[in-house]
Amino acid sequence: MAHLQFRHVAKIYGKGVRAVDGLDFTIPHGEFTVIVGPSGCGKSTVLRMMAGLEDLTEGEFFMDGVVMNPVPPQKRETAMVFQSYALYPHLSVYGNMAFPLKLRKMPKDVIDRRVVDVARSLDLESLLQRMPRELSGGQRQRVALGRAMVREPKVFLFDEPLSNLDAKLRAETRIEIAQLHRRLKTNFVYVTHDQVEAVTMGEKIMVMKDGRLRQYATPGDLMRRPADCFVAGFIGTPPMNFLTMHIEQSKDGLYLTSGRLRIMATPGHVRRLVRYKKNEVIVGIRPKDLYLKRLRDDLKPDEDMQSMAGRFILKESLGDDVLYYLDVSPDFDKKQTMIVKDDAAADADAGEPLDVCVDAKKIYLFDADTEKAIPVQEEGVE
Ligand code: ADP
Repeated sequence: MAHLQFRHVAKIYGKGVRAVDGLDFTIPHGEFTVIVGPSGCGKSTVLRMMAGLEDLTEGEFFMDGVVMNPVPPQKRETAMVFQSYALYPHLSVYGNMAFPLKLRKMPKDVIDRRVVDVARSLDLESLLQRMPRELSGGQRQRVALGRAMVREPKVFLFDEPLSNLDAKLRAETRIEIAQLHRRLKTNFVYVTHDQVEAVTMGEKIMVMKDGRLRQYATPGDLMRRPADCFVAGFIGTPPMNFLTMHIEQSKDGLYLTSGRLRIMATPGHVRRLVRYKKNEVIVGIRPKDLYLKRLRDDLKPDEDMQSMAGRFILKESLGDDVLYYLDVSPDFDKKQTMIVKDDAAADADAGEPLDVCVDAKKIYLFDADTEKAIPVQEEGVE
């Protein structure tokens, strides 16, 4: 276990590619941390800096309070598992797993014991004499994991380790890695571009974009309290719908409007908008918080459940659920599509009017300029 800290870290490659910038975070002992973000956002760079494979251009990396910047990779108590497995083709499974220990000149009996113990725990014991080419993709991945485990590192670093596996094996290996974490209780830092993998595996998740850390939170908090539009749109499938809406004060309350759409703000929203002085706000609505009115005779529009007019574009079946793509454009110039996730199937022709209900309590509010979440105002704070 280790306590990992980045302080003001930046990495500049070659002549000025700022791959990551202004990174400040502390990872507590034993956490399963996932770093997620689109390709090129700097995830692997962070991992490689932890492993010592890249120097930090600015800032410091501490492990258990000790600055790691000058410590070479082989002296760090980290072990990396790569997407490509990186097994030595001319060495057997045993040879691959024993390799890092031989490098450290450990006694043969200790190496033997560790390799056999780890092989047993990963169900690789019967494969120890095989060569990598005689193994399936899943078995190779387990050998790569075993080779990291024999070193008994304080921190495991995973760089997209499941990308080369098929869907079924990926799901199985995901569970194995999660179980391994529970057993070892060491730090796991796991890089992926797949947000589903991130939320199913991580205790805490770092969402990165353009070399910056946007939010570091539990999966539940990322869903419930996304820090900005990027995080809100990146975490959750299908992605959140965003609409730029006007804020209109009328006699009977505060409304959020966009052409034909009109949502009455709840008291909670009104409180949050008290100190927001702009005329427009970005409204985020998750597809699961929208309902097709036609399918829901029981939903009576009231202050919370409000309906708006849309036109059917197409639908996509997900098995249990159906995704409806609706055109809710406020006018001809401003095209706006919305995704509705409903578990009931409706037939409609393209262009047919189809109303949607939105649960006003469930909408998210973001600053129209900065795209940051508009915070909940503390009671009694002026
Ligand atoms: P990710 O893992 O999120 O896909 P990376 O950390 O690999 O992102 O890369 C972040 C940025 O740094 C990208 O723009 C990438 O092109 C650049 N980069 C990565 N490695 C190098 C390198 N060795 N030399 C120059 N630029 C690099």
